[in-house]
Amino acid sequence: MQTNFTLAQLADPNIAEADKILRACVHCGFCTATCPTYVLDGNELDSPRGRIYLIKDMLEHDRPASADVALHVDRCLSCLACMTTCPSGVHYMHLVDQARDRIERTYRRPALERLLRATLAWLMPYPQRFRLALLAALPAKPFAPLAEALGLERLAAMLRLAPWRAPSRPLASQIFPAVGERKGRVALLAGCVNDVLSPEINAAAIAVLTRNGVEVVVADGAGCCGSLVHHMGREHEALAQARANIDAWTALEDLDAIVITTSGCGTTVKDYGFMLRTDPAYADKASRVSALAKDIAEYLATLPLKPAQDVAGLVVAYHSACSLQHGQRVIRQPKELLAKLGFTVKDVPEGHLCCGSAGTYNILQPDYARRLRARKVGTIERLRPDVIAAGNIGCITQISAGTELPAVHTVELIDWATGGSCPPRLQELRPRLAAHP
Ligand code: SF4
Ligand code: SF4
Repeated sequence: MQTNFTLAQLADPNIAEADKILRACVHCGFCTATCPTYVLDGNELDSPRGRIYLIKDMLEHDRPASADVALHVDRCLSCLACMTTCPSGVHYMHLVDQARDRIERTYRRPALERLLRATLAWLMPYPQRFRLALLAALPAKPFAPLAEALGLERLAAMLRLAPWRAPSRPLASQIFPAVGERKGRVALLAGCVNDVLSPEINAAAIAVLTRNGVEVVVADGAGCCGSLVHHMGREHEALAQARANIDAWTALEDLDAIVITTSGCGTTVKDYGFMLRTDPAYADKASRVSALAKDIAEYLATLPLKPAQDVAGLVVAYHSACSLQHGQRVIRQPKELLAKLGFTVKDVPEGHLCCGSAGTYNILQPDYARRLRARKVGTIERLRPDVIAAGNIGCITQISAGTELPAVHTVELIDWATGGSCPPRLQELRPRLAAHP
């Protein structure tokens, strides 16, 4: 694609990067076929190619974001299916991240929208605040249908997504020693939302790692990876959160990896090197952190895990989170691990399409998110699985809100099959599994 940036514009490293990305696009439109918003509505402006044109026009003319640009970029899930499909290697992620930042800086959203976004950015990356918000949401949860009937769709979406049980306290910084001889040492990103909503995920990761000789450190000072605010275009906040994590992890010695159990966070941590490339104080450290970042399944695939429990060929519908399959290209390891440990693994048809979770997307864009969830749940339920497995708390929460099937993190199944305890959701929801220890 031809671009028309001036030399002065190209002196800005962000514009130079956008120019490189835009020039790679040959506007073939292959990406439209796998874009969830285009698949739903067939609107070119809600396709990757349409958004690329809108962003190109905004950047070339150095214009503030218009309402139109904000509308169609906001509808993008950042699922990155378009990047997997694109034959020309267009790095859509870095382009849309830049567009979101410009929208946030130059477009004035309606007051309620601003308030909602500011509240989410203030709450969600901070586990203690998020926990209190979930406690407050618990008694209001039964009123979700009423909120929906009153047209308060976003409130209804938040209440539906809030768990029925009391939220947990986040994991404190500490060291979990390896059982037996120490063969490795990793830092674990405890995360923000993940640990409050579903502490059993990190507990399972710690159990399976330590049982296999890996020491696990939850670093003092590490917190949210920054992706929640990054995807809202709040770049300064995202970079501050990234720097805090980099400082916390760089202070640790002898790390083999930084292990991440939420694939949305993993995609962002693996991008720290790019995000901080122009910061002389952090560029090198950020690149080293990104190089160490591993999804939990990616890391576990390097260990000699052995089955220690009969899981009776339990049928697992494996939902491949977009951030894992498109963002990190970690595709085979989770399925291979599950199959090796005795589960019967089924791929979900249309597996490239997002479930509609996408960070805060299911709150900010409840209509698209609900339609994508219904489509995803339909394809999963047709497989008649015993359990759904995914590598991302966002997907687990989103899918669980639309089905009675139990949904767990892949690492919970791996821990169970290798000698850990049965995932709580399976004990609660599938009495027949209680027979398994
Ligand atoms: S598939 Fe790639 S090259 Fe083709 S229109 Fe989409 S982004 Fe551009
Ligand atoms: S990131 Fe996902 S929703 Fe956004 S343009 Fe690409 S395929 Fe479409």
